[in-house]
Amino acid sequence: MTEKSRELFLKAQEVIPGGVNSPVRAGRAVGVDPLFIQRADGCYLWGADGKRYIDYVCSWGPMILGHRPPEVIQALRDALENGTSYGAPTELELNLAKMIVEAVPSIEMVRMVNSGTEATMSAIRLARGYTGRNMIIKFDGCYHGHTDSCLVSAGSGLATFGIPGSPGVPANLARLTISLPFNNLEAVEVTVKKFGDEIAAIIIEPIAGNMGVVLPEKGFLEGLRKITRENGILLIFDEVITGFRVSPGGAQELYNIMPDLTCLGKIIGGGLPIGAYGGSRDLMSHIAPVGTVYQAGTLSGNPLAMAAGMATLMMLKNKETYVRLEEKSRFLFSGLMDVAGRAGVDIIITRVGSMGSIFFGKNRVVDFDSVKQTETSKYTSFYREMLARRIYLAPSPFEALFVSLAHNEEVMKKTIDSAFHSFKKL
Ligand SMILES: *Cc1c(COP(=O)(O)O)cnc(C)c1O
Repeated sequence: MTEKSRELFLKAQEVIPGGVNSPVRAGRAVGVDPLFIQRADGCYLWGADGKRYIDYVCSWGPMILGHRPPEVIQALRDALENGTSYGAPTELELNLAKMIVEAVPSIEMVRMVNSGTEATMSAIRLARGYTGRNMIIKFDGCYHGHTDSCLVSAGSGLATFGIPGSPGVPANLARLTISLPFNNLEAVEVTVKKFGDEIAAIIIEPIAGNMGVVLPEKGFLEGLRKITRENGILLIFDEVITGFRVSPGGAQELYNIMPDLTCLGKIIGGGLPIGAYGGSRDLMSHIAPVGTVYQAGTLSGNPLAMAAGMATLMMLKNKETYVRLEEKSRFLFSGLMDVAGRAGVDIIITRVGSMGSIFFGKNRVVDFDSVKQTETSKYTSFYREMLARRIYLAPSPFEALFVSLAHNEEVMKKTIDSAFHSFKKL
């Protein structure tokens, strides 16, 4: 990387494990040291040495409006004037909760937490507490944060490193998690037949975004809804990425399927740390202090996170926003497909709205196995070529690319042109 980033990275490795506070950032999957970021604006990032990059990571999803949108910055300034944390309820929490309840079809009540990990951890605890059962089913390549129960055949950083689980997760706990292939309803049927009355929940990313983007096949989510309902199992949609990304109500609104519990994060915090989980009034009433399932947080409902989240969701209320995101995304990804063809490179594009992935190869990607069979080494070369042209993509073949409202046609044309030259070098 650049001189300044290299210098900071060396120093950071002295005091932070791997020099980073989240593993994928280290760039090991693409063999490139991380770019240290100085600042961001719109669709751009500036590296530590002042060079400007077009950003398609968007902080891994939250920055759907682009970086530092004026409305969010103003809301943060206003909130900041009043203080940064009280450990007591505020009107801001009520207002963001109302916006989430209004937008997400299956959520009647919602609890704020500080990260997506906390949201999934708490939703799983609630499912276990509510059903009195211990086992859960998840899907290979889906990532639900780093909570112990979900670090079994997970995506994101774990996919990047090829670690099946993690030391430190007790085998007795991992035993309670069954991981099945995405899009394979038959595997779910067989498993439920065998363990049905021990399974508390099925947790899934309704559109997988952490093994690259993988779409649910027709009937898969509907099938899950049916099986769970018939067997007293709760269906948890982890919409930490898809919530307010593919539509205001997330994938459940897009596909018209009502899960029992929904996990949110990323976009709802407008770039500040946040998570949330919600569901029906009946289910959510099992959480303390109303019910007996315990879950708490010193900084939960933090006023700055609430203010940034609210300002972001306010901007997304305009339905036109999603039409524009779809148009932008279609322009970008069809452009990429086109230039790959012209450069004689086989790529597979998976996309829903403004989240998408580029895989190299010819086969369809339907699950984690087919994703791993793509030509990941070509992604590595492509990543480096694009970075050299100041296009900042996810530093791993197993992550999504995000388009924000700040990506305009000119920027995307430059991206497509850079991709053409990068494809030709492969
Ligand atoms: C990012 C993500 C999480 C974890 O959220 P954190 O805020 O990083 O803890 C959970 N589930 C999905 C689907 C995610 O993409």
